[in-house]
Amino acid sequence: MSTLNIQQLVTDFPLVEKLIALDDVSWFNPNITTLAEGLPYVGLDNTDIKDASDRLKRFAPYLAKAFPETAKTNGIIESDVVAIPAMKTVLDQQYNIEIQGTLLLKKDSHLPISGSIKARGGIYEVLTHAEKLAIQAGLLSESDDYSKLFTDEFRAFFKQFSIAVGSTGNLGMSIGIMSAKLGFSVSVHMSADARQWKKDKLRSHGVIVVEYKEDYGVAVAQGRKEAEKDPTCFFIDDENSPTLFLGYSVAGERLKSQFEAMNILVDELHPLFVYLPCGVGGGPGGVAFGLKMAFGDNVHCIFAEPTHSPCMLLGIHTGLHDEISVQDIGIDNITAADGLAVGRASGFVGRAMERLLDGFYTISDERMYHHLGELSKYEDIQLEPSALAGMLGPVVVSDNEEYLQRIQMDEQKLKNATHLVWATGGGMVPSEEMASYLAKSGI
Ligand SMILES: *Cc1c(COP(=O)(O)O)cnc(C)c1O
Repeated sequence: MSTLNIQQLVTDFPLVEKLIALDDVSWFNPNITTLAEGLPYVGLDNTDIKDASDRLKRFAPYLAKAFPETAKTNGIIESDVVAIPAMKTVLDQQYNIEIQGTLLLKKDSHLPISGSIKARGGIYEVLTHAEKLAIQAGLLSESDDYSKLFTDEFRAFFKQFSIAVGSTGNLGMSIGIMSAKLGFSVSVHMSADARQWKKDKLRSHGVIVVEYKEDYGVAVAQGRKEAEKDPTCFFIDDENSPTLFLGYSVAGERLKSQFEAMNILVDELHPLFVYLPCGVGGGPGGVAFGLKMAFGDNVHCIFAEPTHSPCMLLGIHTGLHDEISVQDIGIDNITAADGLAVGRASGFVGRAMERLLDGFYTISDERMYHHLGELSKYEDIQLEPSALAGMLGPVVVSDNEEYLQRIQMDEQKLKNATHLVWATGGGMVPSEEMASYLAKSGI
């Protein structure tokens, strides 16, 4: 935005100066409300989540057949929750604090089909579109066994339609693989930071990969433009899609039943803190929405962004949302956390969720790599750099007395707390690539 006066912005929001300096910053949202107060601004509710959840159940027999790796969960794409006590000890020592409560990891990194959190929203949006087309054509009804979609007849039907998306990598993987499997012609517009192996993998699935020298914003804009030329083309809009958002939100009820099975209590005396890496915002925003609907005011969601791409923190803190980008304040949006390399946040997600998010912080690439190495060494879990952004969260929260007092966390509640780091990607990183990540970690 050309009219932006940075001097004025820094005067109004001193935190912006620290963002510009690429410091590790945190900001705990003073404007947070209860779920009851904040929900009307989201514009979606439990009915919408149930609709998404039911749709995923209808597709489960298809997914179990089309992707045999999902057969053991009967076609439901879900990830494990694991305790990471050794990592907690490492964090305690490294930052010279004591994280109270239990430290857990949500392994969306190992979700089937595409190995990242995008296997929630991305796949869901493709399925929603496919269902709509098939029902409109009179080929499918909601009471059918959807495994019938895994036939040449349906592949030939979907072949008449195309799907396009702009991506830094993981969204393209989810949408590309899912769309190609159904039979769609699919093109993925990829930003410069997207990894070569992701492009190769997509091409091996028959996906058209269009490469750009620019960042995510440009890839999305170009993809949208290309799609507009083709009336049979459906453009998946990562920046503004309530459908993607709802696909992610189903994670809330799923986590709730996982916690019940694990005897993990979440209530007023047993708070849950969740740390979510944020790029454009759809993934963490949708998950946070689902978590709020599942656990109410007892869950506290905190977003993590790279110091070089703090778009959501910038947008919500200044209230400018998608009217400001990190580049506007001179930040380069260059980070090894490719899933998070987004300069301008989703305006939809920021405006919908700003009252329901407890806080935001930034983390340097060096720290992400460092935690990547530690998690591999001490817990034998391998993730991509983006997925480590949440690992600093329990430290940031434990260290902020002002915030903990404001939300009335006494010592007992903190002892009972669960800290859940959302690991968002890395399960499909080739071993040579992982070896180079580990080498960079210095661990
Ligand atoms: C996409 C992505 C995120 C963040 O999701 P957004 O919807 O872009 O905010 C986090 N981690 C990884 C690994 C991702 O691919």
